[in-house]
Amino acid sequence: MSLDLRELYQEVILDHNRHPRNSGEIETPTATAEGHNPLCGDEIKVYLREEGGRIVDLKFSGHGCAISTASASLMTEAVLGKSTQEALALVHQFQRVVTGKEEPTEEMGELAALAGVRDYPVRVKCATLAWHTFEEAIVQSGSEVSTE
Ligand code: ZN
Repeated sequence: MSLDLRELYQEVILDHNRHPRNSGEIETPTATAEGHNPLCGDEIKVYLREEGGRIVDLKFSGHGCAISTASASLMTEAVLGKSTQEALALVHQFQRVVTGKEEPTEEMGELAALAGVRDYPVRVKCATLAWHTFEEAIVQSGSEVSTE
């Protein structure tokens, strides 16, 4: 990776940490989930509103390190408006990329900024926390739908 690209990725992470997108709470979520990364002390709560199989609103609250906050912010931007299937596919792709099993694709856009954590195993848990938690919220949301 070129130095310029690394600097650009640093900028993306710093920007999303300083100004997290979609931070806050949803008043009437269809599902929520909480995640905790004891290695670093990151804590997150994800609020999901799903209608007709599509993610129509998504917010997160909590506190954590720059990587976990930036990852949560980037995650909400990436999956908002997607179908739950598309979102889950992206969750799994993201997890493969940050654990070094796959290279990031063009379509991942700014998410590629987090691929650098693969060189720092402790940081992988920071980067994936929001995604695991979001996945749990989707699973809960799905079980609610199936009981209707
Ligand atoms: Zn962390």
